[in-house]
Amino acid sequence: MKLKNKKVLIYGLGDSGRAVIKLLNKFEAHISFFDDDVRFFDYIGFVRNPLLVKWDLVVVSPGVKVRGNELLHKLAKTGVPIMSELDFAYLHSKGKIVAITGTNGKTTVSMLCHKILKEAGFETFLCGNIGLPFSSVCDKTTDKSVTVCEVSNFQLETSRFFRADVACILNVLPDHLDRHGSFEEYLRVKGKIAQRMKRRDMLILNLDDENSKKMILHKRFKYFSKQKLKKGAYVWKNTIFFNKKPILSLSDIPLCGEKNLENVLASVAICCQLKVEAQAIKKAVRNFVPAAHRMQEVGQVNGVTFVDDSKATNVASTIACVEAFKNKPIWLLMGGQGKEIDYAQLFSLGFVIKKVVCFGQEGEKIHKSAVQFKYDSQVFAGFDEAVCFCKKNAKEGECVLLSPACASFDEFSSYAERGERFANLILGCADEN
Ligand code: ADP
Repeated sequence: MKLKNKKVLIYGLGDSGRAVIKLLNKFEAHISFFDDDVRFFDYIGFVRNPLLVKWDLVVVSPGVKVRGNELLHKLAKTGVPIMSELDFAYLHSKGKIVAITGTNGKTTVSMLCHKILKEAGFETFLCGNIGLPFSSVCDKTTDKSVTVCEVSNFQLETSRFFRADVACILNVLPDHLDRHGSFEEYLRVKGKIAQRMKRRDMLILNLDDENSKKMILHKRFKYFSKQKLKKGAYVWKNTIFFNKKPILSLSDIPLCGEKNLENVLASVAICCQLKVEAQAIKKAVRNFVPAAHRMQEVGQVNGVTFVDDSKATNVASTIACVEAFKNKPIWLLMGGQGKEIDYAQLFSLGFVIKKVVCFGQEGEKIHKSAVQFKYDSQVFAGFDEAVCFCKKNAKEGECVLLSPACASFDEFSSYAERGERFANLILGCADEN
């Protein structure tokens, strides 16, 4: 679509919406925008009633809630093309695309794939849900580049054109049910990652995940697994293989836990598909440092290990963290803003947890579930009190995990702010109220 002098509405003014505006400026389009957030009402270019204008195109940011959105519904009725930010960026990109989705592990796998591709000498970009919108890098991509795109459900929800050369569904477990309405709908949206795949494209699935393994939505697919397989990426004799070829030893992996092993297996499967040599994979994995607030050891105080896993915002990710540290007595800090998830998924697994320490809006609900499964549990109104309680009472050799299974917005602006507060409280730089 030629965009010069076209009237384009951007709906949603987060990072993605702003990146679209920047890109559209280059195309000399007439740009207006709308956001449900009243803070933007006075911005130049803001339209208070988008239904009064005849648009040529509407681009929707991933932050916009689609289900039950009356404005979007009415705009669609006018016949204007409505496009997701992901589609918009995709249509303005070149080269190959690796798309990674899943309930958990997306950022870790996207970062690791990007690092491996860089190590192997590829011209590569990292973008998407990871913080840098695809729209802000798409015009830099070339015929030879490989763009690693972390794709969330929010981005897929309204997408129709996005296509990846290699797509991976890491796992699918209940999350964001508040936005999608049901798990079936959440699954359906995740599956959209494969909707446009061509015959030569490859879909990578996790044989160890009940939902991912069934999502054979494309003829050409490969599995990864912690069990021995005939092809794909798998573990055998403490070594990761791809199609029978040894790639790296488990001792090369600096990350802890079974789920991080799955993340490495997924990255191996993706990069081997792009014909990266084992040597580059091994080197990149060995030197990999994951993003902050993901099972990150923030320090040892009086022999107690404190782990910041603030990014664990659903039960499945908290399970991953508890599993990774199960060798030590665990004090588990859980709570925040809930997402209508059942905590019995964690407590029914029988992990040994010394104490469940609950906080925030969801604290009482988590506490009740923990007690039902006979766990020792205590509730605190606020985050600081809960953390300080752990700091005072955990003993040498024990481990305090902040792995909240909830969003942070009841007390913080983001999971990162929550994680930083945790580190400050532990390391003594914040006031203990
Ligand atoms: P995402 O980008 O999908 O949110 P991250 O890589 O940022 O995933 O990891 C978020 C949290 O999920 C981590 O803090 C960890 O607790 C957990 N986690 C990481 N990888 C996995 C996985 N493969 N399966 C389940 N949980 C995981």
